[in-house]
Amino acid sequence: MAQRDKAIIYVDMDHVLCDYQDGFSRQKAMFPDLEFPQSQPGLYIGLNPLPGAIETYRWLNDHPNTNVYILLAPSVRNSHCYSEKRDWVEKHLGISVVQNLIITPHKNLNKGHYLIDDMASGKGQDRFEGSLIHFGSDLFPDWASVRAFFEEALHPDGSPPKAGPWDAFFNSELRVTEDFGLNQEDRDW
Ligand SMILES: [Mg+2]
Repeated sequence: MAQRDKAIIYVDMDHVLCDYQDGFSRQKAMFPDLEFPQSQPGLYIGLNPLPGAIETYRWLNDHPNTNVYILLAPSVRNSHCYSEKRDWVEKHLGISVVQNLIITPHKNLNKGHYLIDDMASGKGQDRFEGSLIHFGSDLFPDWASVRAFFEEALHPDGSPPKAGPWDAFFNSELRVTEDFGLNQEDRDW
């Protein structure tokens, strides 16, 4: 398959590859008096992968019909975020994936077909030209559901996906779903 015909897939980190909620709880226990305990070094590099995240990322990355990138919006006030995110990627996915790490507060400026993200807006997700795979939503609650979706969407002969739970997704013009009511700026620091 020619490079131009491959599916370009972007993958977010916090709440998607990484278990941010668990890490934040541990950080809060260490720094109970800080309003923003996530501002202290060690949070981001210490995050655990969410179940199935590493295995499914590798499967997508190794798929002959894809080009896969990590696309994350940093906490711009927190310089540890930039370096620790990069180190997390090397630690869990290897140096070759660091080559495909993109850090930007403007996710919409990256061209591609799919964005796997737990946030539907806040960092340009709502203006991304491709389809949002809304991680944590009813349709995509976990990595097993994401893999099942891409096994259909990346069908090697290019035929349309078979009927299944994603009929509504493939037939919908409006693929960006509602947010969870959380403001990304609020949980970002
Ligand atoms: Mg996220």
